[in-house]
Amino acid sequence: MPVNLLDFDLEGLAALCAGLGEKRFRAVQLYRWIHQKGASDFAHMSDLAKGLRGKLAAVAEIRGLPLISEHVSADGTIKWLFDVGGGNAVESVYIPEDDRGTLCLSSQAGCAVGCRFCSTGHQGFSRNLSTGEIVGQLWFAEHRLRQRLALPAGERAIDNVVMMGMGEPLQNYDALVPALRTMLSDHGYGLSRRRVTVSTSGLTRMIDRLRNDCPVALAVSLHAPNDKLRDALVPLNRKHGIDELLDACVRYLDAAPRDFITFEYCMLDGVNDTPELAQELVRLVRGRVPCKFNLIPFNPFPASGLKRSSRERVLAFARVLQDAGIVTTIRKTRGDDIDAACGQLAGEVQDRTNARERLALRRAVIPIAATTGGLL
Ligand code: SAH
Ligand code: SF4
Repeated sequence: MPVNLLDFDLEGLAALCAGLGEKRFRAVQLYRWIHQKGASDFAHMSDLAKGLRGKLAAVAEIRGLPLISEHVSADGTIKWLFDVGGGNAVESVYIPEDDRGTLCLSSQAGCAVGCRFCSTGHQGFSRNLSTGEIVGQLWFAEHRLRQRLALPAGERAIDNVVMMGMGEPLQNYDALVPALRTMLSDHGYGLSRRRVTVSTSGLTRMIDRLRNDCPVALAVSLHAPNDKLRDALVPLNRKHGIDELLDACVRYLDAAPRDFITFEYCMLDGVNDTPELAQELVRLVRGRVPCKFNLIPFNPFPASGLKRSSRERVLAFARVLQDAGIVTTIRKTRGDDIDAACGQLAGEVQDRTNARERLALRRAVIPIAATTGGLL
């Protein structure tokens, strides 16, 4: 099978070209054709010598992901479902805003972390996506949108990427980092480090590695101010508790392109949304981690057994944080009419982990904490 050039960052492509006896600047030209012009056919790459085009066609291809469906929401949000083979499909979501376009990408088919409130987690895990499958989502969306929006040459559609779709990006680290490099490269998508965000449920060792290898903006899915509650919501907390996580966040800030960490907090009715828990959160982070909070109203999905906190509860929770001087925003729910909102992405996953059974078991054995109102 020919190699897929979407799998390579610029250094990888330069090494491939060197193997074909070609100079580095040829790799730069090729990379620009692929990512900046959206080319998939070597024959169209007019400034590459015919000989090189022939050599490339013999060993390589530019293979995007087969599109299964495209849904456009009433608010302009677009959700694409891509076939990644083996009965698996993943989703990407484009969220237009007044001043920018954000693309939310998937990193895995399913997710092995199994958070209590997440539809991807409920589906279990099938496999990691390759670099080409991560970049392929951006490659498709950027060039599809340029056409759809009839953008003038040189203007880009997507200026913000968030790794907040299906999967835990830091559990697919080796594929993630080259994908991030292509997003950041001036010859690739030219995105600013501040506008590429990796969201993680808290793999502390991997946060340290990202800090060294490719520091981009970091969002950490916190969801609870203490280990007891977080253990029940985000299972990997039992291995890497909140203390360890906050220490990793502080270390990350040394290299981060922003001087704060974004904490995501999914607002679950009667579970983690009381003013007392907001106060506990203030005591936890104040003076320790420069941060902002992004409160995400829970997006329900069948089988979750959980409810979204009321608007009043979310506002009251935000007020406690804000009164303590912590910048707090409430995420607008976008695209929920097409199941494209946070945590609703489920694609199609051939579960290899028996997630449903494990979750059912966990629900049965977790002692019900007073703070959870008996919902977990
Ligand atoms: N695995 C990574 C990134 C993907 S999830 C992580 O957990 O951070 C992206 C965000 O969506 C996370 O903050 C996650 O907690 C949130 N989320 C998951 N399920 C949700 C739901 N049903 N409603 C609202 N937000 C949800
Ligand atoms: Fe995985 Fe993130 Fe969903 Fe948790 S919230 S199950 S880490 S995708």
